Amino acid sequence: GNLEHILLVGAFETITGYTPEEYMAAGGWRASLYPDDVAQDERDMAVLRSNQRVITELRIIRKDGEIRWVRVYAHPVWDAALNRLVAINGAVQDITARKMAEESLQRSEAFLRALLDATTDVAFLMSLDGEFLTLNKTLAESIHKAVGAMVGQNVYDILKPDVAASRRQRFDEVIASRLPVRWQDQSDATFWDNQAYPILSPTGSVEAFAVYGREITEQKRLEAELQRYTAHLEQMVEERTAQLRLAKEQVETILNNTRDAVALAHLNGDIETRNPAFVTMFGDQVASRIEHILWTISDADQSALVGEALMKVIYEQEHQRVEARIASGNGVDRDVDLAFIPVRAADSATPHSLLVSAHDITHLKEIERFKERFVADAVHDLATPISGLSTRLYLLKKMPENTGEHIEALENQVEHLRNLLTELRTLSQLDRGILVLSLQPCNLNRIVARIVATYEPVAIEKGQLLTLNLAPTLPETLIDSHQIERVFVNLISNAINYTASGKTIRIETQVADDGVMFKVTDEGIGIGADDLPHVFGRFYRTAKARDTHAGGTGLGLAIVKEIVELHGGRVTVESTVDQGSTFTVWLPVKPDQSAISKG
Ligand code: ADP
Repeated sequence: GNLEHILLVGAFETITGYTPEEYMAAGGWRASLYPDDVAQDERDMAVLRSNQRVITELRIIRKDGEIRWVRVYAHPVWDAALNRLVAINGAVQDITARKMAEESLQRSEAFLRALLDATTDVAFLMSLDGEFLTLNKTLAESIHKAVGAMVGQNVYDILKPDVAASRRQRFDEVIASRLPVRWQDQSDATFWDNQAYPILSPTGSVEAFAVYGREITEQKRLEAELQRYTAHLEQMVEERTAQLRLAKEQVETILNNTRDAVALAHLNGDIETRNPAFVTMFGDQVASRIEHILWTISDADQSALVGEALMKVIYEQEHQRVEARIASGNGVDRDVDLAFIPVRAADSATPHSLLVSAHDITHLKEIERFKERFVADAVHDLATPISGLSTRLYLLKKMPENTGEHIEALENQVEHLRNLLTELRTLSQLDRGILVLSLQPCNLNRIVARIVATYEPVAIEKGQLLTLNLAPTLPETLIDSHQIERVFVNLISNAINYTASGKTIRIETQVADDGVMFKVTDEGIGIGADDLPHVFGRFYRTAKARDTHAGGTGLGLAIVKEIVELHGGRVTVESTVDQGSTFTVWLPVKPDQSAISKG
């Protein structure tokens, strides 16, 4: 107000753009001030009026309108007599550039701080001995402290001793390497991913650290869970694989060892796999295509049926079963029960493959055929003596004067029927396995001698010579003597029956292998080569035998064979028509119970 003048020095013109005259004309100092800084100037004036110097920073508006920061050094010129301020000596310095830099520095510092506070990572600057120089909100909040309260505190005092020690090591590493170090550690149940950066002094040594810490507890937990889950999954896969492998091996074992032929074919007929039994049964001719099974069937009707079944399983997906007689892999004919089964996966409605299985039923078929023949033969063989009986009874009524002759004939017929019945009963017992041997050590020589003694008169009556040639010593043989007697009686009486008078029948015993041998050789009618394989069959009689000896049943040799085999022995025959036959029985000294055939 009432100051005479303000003397301004410095590069005045350069700073303001005014000459001193222009400046004064424009209103002087106060007028040139930036309006916001007028209040500051008033405070400064108050100081000057109390006779104190002022150094202040203000904005002025230049002549060209530009705003400049200036530093003002103002000294009061004091009139002691008047006791008041009379003038001000001032020097003005342009500090715009410095002010701008300072402002931008402040702005960037605020920006950085905001950035640090915004992150969920923990961040701080730390002195070499562990003092917090500055820290972000996240860190302060994590330990429920104010940022201000933390500055100056020591990080090592806050940490648990063991964690503190291990972290000190990391910071030592940073000092030594002057490179950032990153590590993960754990404090209580919390996991951290940490990074420490060295802050280097102008001389290149580490002055402080910038530290970032990210809590990774959740990540660790998820990692661990994932690991557990993966391990669990792996284990499950392993277990499942093992199960599948086992199941596959089991199926393979079954398929490789079953006697049923099994093959899996594509619906187009290509065979994909077949088991060893399939190869044995059908041979290599049925290796690639399932319809080649038809090649193995010679019967036209059966072949047509199997062909039809194949079509049905493929086109109508119907399970098929059909019986056929095939020429097997080794050329032998076999009866098989063929099954064609469409195979579909659990999740599929349409089948993708075709399972073929063949069960060998030759044995069953043979039994069936045998039964049929047996019944027919038995009916025939029973009918013959019964019609004989009726004829005799008729004659007896017509010609009662010949009673004696008729009765004898009737007795013969009845005797024949009784024999037939006895033999059928024996066979039935053998078939049902209820004929149990009662084995005892016996001397075969003694049995043979006794039978020969019994049959000698019969031979003599027929004009035959019966010779006996016994082995000097025979080992005791474990046999059912009653059954073996039937065997010898049968063979000796056959020899007598089928040999003419004047001929010789030789009976002998021998030691052989691990057993004993019984032999009957006759000079009888013999057996033709065609008949020879069949004489041990039931009801089998040669035509010549029927003429020679009417009373036979055709069951004797069948029984002989069964009884000998039940003892673990063998019976064989050699014969030439019109020259004679030799029947040989071999019996083991001690029948191997397990090897004994049950017929
Ligand atoms: P059969 O009661 O007819 O004798 P077998 O079963 O004992 O019944 O004999 C079956 C057939 O074997 C006889 O019918 C006969 O054709 C033939 N056969 C058995 N033994 C002799 C033999 N010693 N010589 C010639 N043929 C025999």
